[in-house]
Amino acid sequence: MSPMPAILVLTPRGLATAARIRAGLDGGDIRGRAGRVDTAVTFDDMAAALRACFVAGQPIVALCAAGLVVRALAPVLHDKTAEPPVVVVAEDGGVVIPLLGGHHGANDLARRIAEGLGVTAAITTAGDLAFGLALDAPPSGWRLANPDDAKAFMAGLLAGAGVALTGEAPWLADSDLPFAQEGGYEIRCGVEPCEGGPRRLVYHPARIAVGLGSERGVEAAEVAALIEQSLAEAGISPLAIGGLFSLDLKVDEAAFHAAAESLRAPFRVFDLETLRAEEARLETPSEAVAREVGVAGVAEAAALAAAGPDGTLILAKRKSRRATCALALAPEILAAERMGRARGRLAIVGLGPGRADWRTPEAARALASAGHLVGYKLYLDLAGEAPAGQKAHAYELGQEEERARDALDLAAGGENVALVSSGDPGVYAMASLVYELIDGADAASPWRRVALEVAPGLTAMQAAAARAGAPLGHDFCAISLSDLLTPHETILQRIQAAAAGDFVVAFYNPVSATRRRLLPEAKRILLRHRRPDTPVVLARQLGRDAERVRIVGLSDLDVAMVDMLTLVIVGSSQTRVYQTPSGGQAVYTPRGYAIAENAEATP
Ligand code: SAH
Repeated sequence: MSPMPAILVLTPRGLATAARIRAGLDGGDIRGRAGRVDTAVTFDDMAAALRACFVAGQPIVALCAAGLVVRALAPVLHDKTAEPPVVVVAEDGGVVIPLLGGHHGANDLARRIAEGLGVTAAITTAGDLAFGLALDAPPSGWRLANPDDAKAFMAGLLAGAGVALTGEAPWLADSDLPFAQEGGYEIRCGVEPCEGGPRRLVYHPARIAVGLGSERGVEAAEVAALIEQSLAEAGISPLAIGGLFSLDLKVDEAAFHAAAESLRAPFRVFDLETLRAEEARLETPSEAVAREVGVAGVAEAAALAAAGPDGTLILAKRKSRRATCALALAPEILAAERMGRARGRLAIVGLGPGRADWRTPEAARALASAGHLVGYKLYLDLAGEAPAGQKAHAYELGQEEERARDALDLAAGGENVALVSSGDPGVYAMASLVYELIDGADAASPWRRVALEVAPGLTAMQAAAARAGAPLGHDFCAISLSDLLTPHETILQRIQAAAAGDFVVAFYNPVSATRRRLLPEAKRILLRHRRPDTPVVLARQLGRDAERVRIVGLSDLDVAMVDMLTLVIVGSSQTRVYQTPSGGQAVYTPRGYAIAENAEATP
């Protein structure tokens, strides 16, 4: 999904311009500075909001000073080919500057905005100015075989040379390039390989559909070699591949995903019915395959289904020991993303405990790129900044299993889903539930074909420790006091063991609406092993406006001091309180029991 731009505004004047920009673009997700502009989605800090959108891959239109944007994004600039475009617009709409990613969408976005506002976009990239296109950044569906030659080639044209065009490419033919038959420079376009050079650029259109079939568990190297041989035999460049295609049962075949990744092309699957519709066009139908799979040839049928009714089979089925491959040529660039379906993806994402800057860039990206967000209502609100077009599935507290099942069902249907947890998704949260469900499911369950990933988050225990000082500096453990899923007796045994082992203990779920008995019992057990003044950290609503962190002695711990949104850390025999010069307190646990003797201690 290519998300709509985030339009970030600081003032009411900027908001008026933002509304005009959104109207001109037919979309965009306007966010304003909290307290200054009245928008549905707000942010507190422009620089943080810019970075959050940028690392999430969302295109940005910023209505503020260009310098502010430069300073905010400088620390997160990393890879210009993968980053979203950034356009700065003056608050009165008088100037439009494509600041970053000129050749990756910013020039285009700036031109569209400028057109809507009736001004000129400040395009500064050299190629664009002279010829109306960027040779090193062809439009989507085209690949330049020799990008390293683009600079010298462009310099030649800017110095006055003429260029001859071979093959069909409307985006080049319609540009302002200085075409001349005998200019000494050449651009070649086609699906066949061709040697490039400083005076010859070679572009390949993504018109080739690779159809694949295989036995389950085929080796990636076998599939890669078969594709390579098939392309060589047909005289086709790998850069002309628009997609790899197969039957939906093969949606999780690892070798096909590996091939797609190394060829940088999408892998999509069709249902049996779609493949059957191609049977009349198969060159090498097989009755044995038809009996076994339900269609007389997977590779040829998949290639043809992707190439469309006007496409042609250019290489009939080739076989290796356990795989098959066929090639078809489509009349146009393949729109693979709209064909059949992709493997569904379920990202189980940890939001961290509240604050946006306690969230990893990976988690932010997983949230921004998902088509569906599934989670507890409150966490979805915390996730904020939903890109346009994303669907939210909000659940009430509890309902964990239903949430996990629904997320798996959506992903099994080919959707890109993010299931959100607060803190870390693997700590008393959704990730293990998802694994329990798929592990318990039938071997043939579509849930098992979903691409699963877990994006970690800062867990409440770490946030609490950081706020209090460094109480987790030596061995520690975590215990949940919720007896919903664990027998009461087991919890008591664990507290007993932790107390006897002199672990620092982080208590999650210290109380619930109905259960307040365990914390006093924990206190009683711990006091048998620890001093009454052992430091206890009570951290409530970490990362939120209502955050409160208190330090009390173990004997003063009272269950009335905690609620469901509190994390409790009880120190070990070594944990100490440090009185800060400003009159505050911090809690820390030294790195070693006897530092002086511990020569191996690392800083
Ligand atoms: N996955 C979460 C934990 C979920 S269990 C994580 O890794 O943080 C829920 C318990 O976590 C709460 O009862 C509370 O003890 C703790 N907790 C979660 N978020 C918190 C926060 N923002 N402040 C304090 N405690 C929190």
